[in-house]
Amino acid sequence: MRPAYAHIDLAALRHNYQLAKQFSPNKALAVVKADAYGHGAVQCAQALTDCADGFAVACLEEAIELRSAGIKQPILLLEGFFHADELALCVEHDLWLVIHAHWQIEALTRSPLKQPINCWLKMDSGMHRVGFFLHDFVGAYQRLRQCANVGQVVAMTHLARADDVQSPAASQQCAVFSQAIKQLGVPTSLSNSAAVLAWPQIVSDWTRPGIMLYGSNPLLKPTEVTQQLKPVMSLQSRIIAVRELPEGEAIGYGARFVTQKASRIGVVAMGYADGYPRHAQDGTPMLVEGHRAGLAGRVSMDMLTVDLTDLPQAGVGSAVELWGKHISVDEVAHCADTISYSMLTNIKRVQKNYL
Ligand code: PLP
Repeated sequence: MRPAYAHIDLAALRHNYQLAKQFSPNKALAVVKADAYGHGAVQCAQALTDCADGFAVACLEEAIELRSAGIKQPILLLEGFFHADELALCVEHDLWLVIHAHWQIEALTRSPLKQPINCWLKMDSGMHRVGFFLHDFVGAYQRLRQCANVGQVVAMTHLARADDVQSPAASQQCAVFSQAIKQLGVPTSLSNSAAVLAWPQIVSDWTRPGIMLYGSNPLLKPTEVTQQLKPVMSLQSRIIAVRELPEGEAIGYGARFVTQKASRIGVVAMGYADGYPRHAQDGTPMLVEGHRAGLAGRVSMDMLTVDLTDLPQAGVGSAVELWGKHISVDEVAHCADTISYSMLTNIKRVQKNYL
């Protein structure tokens, strides 16, 4: 078998969820959309089932996958529904819905449903993707409240820049949100991972931590707190070939890396078709036989190359950690000019092992 694996440490996932609860003691929906950010939604939800207050996914299909696997906690659809036809299934599977547009309230009002649905009314307090603006929010809330198909209502918003602790943007969004909900007396939800860890002054009934559950730092700069997160995914492979090359030899597509001296180049069974970022620069770190080594040359579809010149002990069969406990996914993301969210959700083809 191809020696490419993603080891998923479910104890680390539980630790990170508990950390989120420690920082924000109210209820927390564990965000497990996009297959739990590439970690396996069913396995992650099952690992959290005795401690999570609920789960958040993007859409109906993701929720049904969890229900089919026996997950009983509340599940919120963060994108709500796309067509009125989905509502009967939402009732059948006892799902909660984000409501962000007038047509959704109309669809809820008109649909013959067997049970009321709990709804999270989304406010656009500054992100400017979806949700009701300040001037529209109270009216939307009142229409939703009058709808017989609607059970409990939570007011929510999403913060665009909670990762930047220097920026006033998160406080400004909170102020807009507070203004909208002050008369309503509804439960609220604001914080993503970054807000949970960096904005303790934002208090709401429900938080929605995602990336921090998987051990990646949600803030622009690491802090003492983010260092308490434990990485959940460890992406591993092995050296499958070694090249001894003289000075001046180019390696891989586009000849991006040229040896500056006689070099040993290892070939690792891991490529962009596995989800390793193709734009990783030369020098992007990985761990070989317990030592840091750097990417040498462009990442190919199924393989990548690493400079082993200073690691004579490494050879064919040596273990490689592409990211995990020793090399953080955030460091690799930085070297590839991307974000951990994108890298983790891109993981495919490699076998996932649950620890
Ligand atoms: N809440 C909403 C509405 C989201 O869309 C997301 C993720 O994109 C989250 C919470 C979780 O965010 P994070 O992974 O940054 O914690």
